[in-house]
Amino acid sequence: LKKHFPVNPNAWLTGRLNRVLRAVDDVSFDIAAGETLGLVGESGSGKSTTGRLVLRLIEPTSGAVKFQGEDLARVEQEHLRRMRRNMQIIFQDPQASLNPRHRVEDIILEPLYAQGERPSARLTNYAGDLLDKVGLRRIHAQRFPHEFSGGQRQRIGIARAIAPRPKFIVCDEAVSALDVSVQAQVINLLQDLQEELGMSYLFIGHDLAVVRHIADRVAVMYLGRIVELAPKSDLYNRPHHPYTQALLAAVPVSHPRMRRTRSRLHGETPSPLDPPAGCHFHPRCPFAQDVCRSETPPLRQFASGHQAACHFAETVVSVAPPLV
Ligand code: SF4
Ligand code: MG
Repeated sequence: LKKHFPVNPNAWLTGRLNRVLRAVDDVSFDIAAGETLGLVGESGSGKSTTGRLVLRLIEPTSGAVKFQGEDLARVEQEHLRRMRRNMQIIFQDPQASLNPRHRVEDIILEPLYAQGERPSARLTNYAGDLLDKVGLRRIHAQRFPHEFSGGQRQRIGIARAIAPRPKFIVCDEAVSALDVSVQAQVINLLQDLQEELGMSYLFIGHDLAVVRHIADRVAVMYLGRIVELAPKSDLYNRPHHPYTQALLAAVPVSHPRMRRTRSRLHGETPSPLDPPAGCHFHPRCPFAQDVCRSETPPLRQFASGHQAACHFAETVVSVAPPLV
């Protein structure tokens, strides 16, 4: 999948678009039924754009998105509308994503209204059931979003996402705005619902500790590309990419004797408008060689399903000390 945006800060002078932001640059992955794929990276790495592409909320520059074997770009509009039932999204900021003038009942039934259903006693009852499911009270259906805490509002966002009984949900920084204790509750809720309803998640986040909690496999993005993708335990225990290692080294460990002394990520993230040639990570990479400055490392497959885009992944994984 690729998503390139034309940009030109001086377009008003030259009348031409002459630069391209490669927000998502040749990304490829799959998610199995009932699986959670974590997608991590710093802001500007292309995670949210990837999530929107996957739901076809934005059009890709090139590439395909297949859902249950059907290419979303090729199905008829009417069929796509019906498929949307099965593909929902939960946003980072529940405050911004819930219409302040709508009652909770109408907010959580919105995806059903979008499918052509009309308000009814049956739907009102169903809205109550959904509130039960996400740990709120049925009576809350008649209230407005501002009457709830951040964590409760995110539960409302979750009730809305599961209302059409989807097969797949993109959770875009779904818990990032919440306090740590509330984060844990919402993650547990997402896991319980996944088990009960058999859904798949694309769980987008920047906090590796949170993603570790919920994901089965994890993909790491850097400047529009996936640099590493592996089953969770492999990724966290044997990172093959120097960027993943640096991210993991920056995860705070509370016990003083467990405190990690490995080098933190140094240097600023380069602008995605002007990424370094070859391996985008080379200016910050302690393993970089000449070849890294000119040749883009392909995503290579290693044992146990581990994929990494580094010319020297074998060296990286063998010299790196264990993280804990
Ligand atoms: Fe570092 Fe080179 Fe690997 Fe990129 S390809 S991560 S610069 S060693
Ligand atoms: Mg984002």
